Amino acid sequence: MQSDSALTSLKGVGPALAKKLEKLNVFRVSDLLFLLPLRYEDRTQLVKIGALIVGSRCLVTGEVLLAETVYRGRRNLLIRIGDGSGQLTLRFFHFSRAQQAQFQPGIRVTCFGEARRGASGIEMIHPEYRILREDQDAAINDSLTAIYPATEGIQQGRLRSLTDQALRQMADDPPPELLPAALTKKLGMPSLAKAIAYLHRPPPHADTQQLLGGTHACQRRLAFEELLAHYLSLRNLRVLAASKDAVALTNNGAAVDDFIDKLPFRLTGAQQRVVDDILRDLAQAHPMMRLIQGDVGSGKTVVAAIACVQAIACGVQAAVMAPTEILAEQHWRSFSDWFRPLGIESAWLSGSQRVAARRESLEAIAQGRAQLIVGTHALFQEGVAFRRLGLVIIDEQHRFGVHQRMALRDKGVTRDAHPHQLVMTATPIPRTLAMAAYADLDTSVIDELPPGRRPVSTVALPESRRAEVVERVRQACASGQQAFWVCPLIEESEILDYQAAEASYRMLSAALPDLRVGLVHGRMRQAEKERGMHAFKEGLIQLLVATTVIEVGVDVPNANLMIIENAERMGLSQLHQLRGRVGRGSVQSHCVLLYKAPLGRIAKQRLGVLRDTNDGFVVAQRDLELRGPGELLGTRQTGLPDYRIANLVRDAELMPQVQITAEALLKDSASPTAAIIRRWLGDAGQYGKV
Ligand code: ADP
Ligand code: MG
Repeated sequence: MQSDSALTSLKGVGPALAKKLEKLNVFRVSDLLFLLPLRYEDRTQLVKIGALIVGSRCLVTGEVLLAETVYRGRRNLLIRIGDGSGQLTLRFFHFSRAQQAQFQPGIRVTCFGEARRGASGIEMIHPEYRILREDQDAAINDSLTAIYPATEGIQQGRLRSLTDQALRQMADDPPPELLPAALTKKLGMPSLAKAIAYLHRPPPHADTQQLLGGTHACQRRLAFEELLAHYLSLRNLRVLAASKDAVALTNNGAAVDDFIDKLPFRLTGAQQRVVDDILRDLAQAHPMMRLIQGDVGSGKTVVAAIACVQAIACGVQAAVMAPTEILAEQHWRSFSDWFRPLGIESAWLSGSQRVAARRESLEAIAQGRAQLIVGTHALFQEGVAFRRLGLVIIDEQHRFGVHQRMALRDKGVTRDAHPHQLVMTATPIPRTLAMAAYADLDTSVIDELPPGRRPVSTVALPESRRAEVVERVRQACASGQQAFWVCPLIEESEILDYQAAEASYRMLSAALPDLRVGLVHGRMRQAEKERGMHAFKEGLIQLLVATTVIEVGVDVPNANLMIIENAERMGLSQLHQLRGRVGRGSVQSHCVLLYKAPLGRIAKQRLGVLRDTNDGFVVAQRDLELRGPGELLGTRQTGLPDYRIANLVRDAELMPQVQITAEALLKDSASPTAAIIRRWLGDAGQYGKV
């Protein structure tokens, strides 16, 4: 097949460029076809400066009114241009003398860039620009410009010329159509070749709005196939696991019954149901692959502990992995408290452990003396060898990728058995997303909170009422309660993040001299963070000022007041997770969302959702609806892969059909599932390699 020829067969591609292209997963000419534009730029029309919308990338033309250099820590070149409808500042941090000399007042210039709000009105920072001759018009494109994923040392122009060549080859020799014709016909989807050609080079009459929004039929055609590829890959993992043997963890159930009897509380109905699911799975001679979804505070930990009791009673080791030291250590303590009276030996493993302690743990794990092992990522590192690992439990699954889950599982793979796997998550993602993220897992849901919990009562207040809120903190702490004061991440900047927390810490320490106030933020060393969290858990600190490092899983039942600053900037699901840190005891808990007025319409609705419900699934669904299409759910938050073209929020409605199609393909041994997976995930990206 011609289009599958080596990259170096293309004009202008030598070994060095071929190497760089490999970083973009492009190994053969046909791979270039699937190197899809990340987005499009609209240079098909000139925008009037007065009509610029902040945040949009636009083409404008204007006359230079003023050019000056100013010092803002370093030299800035500022060019003010106008077109009669308004004025715009072009700001350059890097510029040559020759560049500076170009911008003579009266000269016309056309530029393309993102409109931002600057110190003195709308600005573009380092726009692309061209000086226009007197008789010259701005060059307006007749179609959208495709923007490719960038990699160091390859310019957009080069990528465009390479894809041009690949598209020409494709015209003679299109890539194979892997979806059943009946399906594409039924869904009204264009052919693969047509979709590819269209998306790389949208024709002049293309529907700009659809393409920019990612909802064009050609985009959906490819997104469908990509989602299908990922789904098939996860399902393969599942099919493969089912074909493996596992130690059937079955006995008379006495150990588990005894453990449940001795708990200081009764399991909720939902917990009992999930425990039954797990025990049924564990009794099979094939590995369990089960996900527990349960809102924050629903009591997933004790369910995990019960699974461990069963495993250990059946003579295998159980490992529990958590994404942070704080969380792992919390599990370590809960499990040790529960298991020590039963004579179960536990071991702790973390990255920050001292050498001697680590050596001792490793030995206990290798010899099988340690029956329960709790830790962080350290659990699947080299040098950790288990004697007989039969059950793997992963908490807060969305913080780990599938590959990390596999790495821990691999620690328990022997010639004749695979370990059972249980993963837990508190991020309640809507069903369609769960389908894509967890296609290899059976799901159990803990949809009930322990009794006596009162929903956290939530209010939203403008910052102008801060003094009142501080007074409320004082009263709560004076009466023996504890409180969190959360300063969220601002503009993804760690420095600002920590400065905001420091400032609040100083303000609160000064305003509340009688309280013991502590500070924990992301820039502290791990040990310092731990110390702060512990002091709070032990009650030595009454008010903990923190950045979002406390987001995951920390259990301090005596903390029942939480203040969240800049709540209007945060995602709903994240706010819900944060709020889940309070409301763990039986006393009524409160959450105050402080916001900067005035609130936009969407922000108002979002804060309203939190006021109205404590149900994580409702919050997640509303989050999805309010963000609407076009906004990506962060992959880090969900453990979802990076897609090339699919967007799970925007394309969620494709999932049910993806699932149906995948199941049908899997039933037919002649179907090209392997080719579909390889096309989108490559050889290395496949999950299902064991
Ligand atoms: P999460 O699901 O967020 O991980 P945890 O497992 O940390 O929740 O449980 C939260 C708190 O609820 C813990 O203090 C735990 O001991 C308690 N808990 C769990 N199950 C019950 C129950 N059935 N009745 C009362 N308290 C419970
Ligand atoms: Mg938990």
